[in-house]
Amino acid sequence: MDSNAVNADLASVLYTKEEIQSRIEELAAQIDKDYEGRDILVVGVLKGAVMVMADLARALNSHVTMDWMAVSSYGSGTQSSGVVRILKDLDSDLMGKHVLIVEDIIDSGLTLSWLKSNLESRGPASVEICALLRKPEAAKVEIDVKYVGMDIPNKFVVGYGLDWAEKYRNLDCVGVLAPHIYQ
Ligand code: IMP
Ligand code: MG
Repeated sequence: MDSNAVNADLASVLYTKEEIQSRIEELAAQIDKDYEGRDILVVGVLKGAVMVMADLARALNSHVTMDWMAVSSYGSGTQSSGVVRILKDLDSDLMGKHVLIVEDIIDSGLTLSWLKSNLESRGPASVEICALLRKPEAAKVEIDVKYVGMDIPNKFVVGYGLDWAEKYRNLDCVGVLAPHIYQ
């Protein structure tokens, strides 16, 4: 492999492109079944959820409309504070809609917990969450997530939308960053 390739910065690959695709197809089949002919408004959380959204939306057979939100946690450092600021709000009115929030990863759960109650306050018929990854050991708040791709160890991962300093989002796999990158 080209030593300049982004893949060379990974200590290990957790999930390959193929493994992610097949898990997303399983999730999509479950979602189609659960929503049974109802239209779904899928809400992607920028920027991390871009890849999951693109693949999940194409795997769904239901009628889907797509919208996007960008949020950021207040406070310094890399730790989520739970106080969330909306950087870009939805274009859609949620009244009476079946909303499915699509996220890349649930770490502490604070961001999604805030987002779910924020969207619930806008009068939708339902709000559910689909996250590709979840770190059960990092959970700080109880949150009801209907669709989870994979539970992973409490390590910092990149790829498939997930970044470190805005890089590595374009990896087609999910991996653990090599220590020499951030040391
Ligand atoms: P939470 O509020 O702690 O659940 O934060 C979730 C957000 O933190 C995710 O949407 C990601 O943007 C980011 N995040 C959490 N863990 C990781 C990771 O391992 N790699 C990259 N981003 C992460
Ligand atoms: Mg995110």
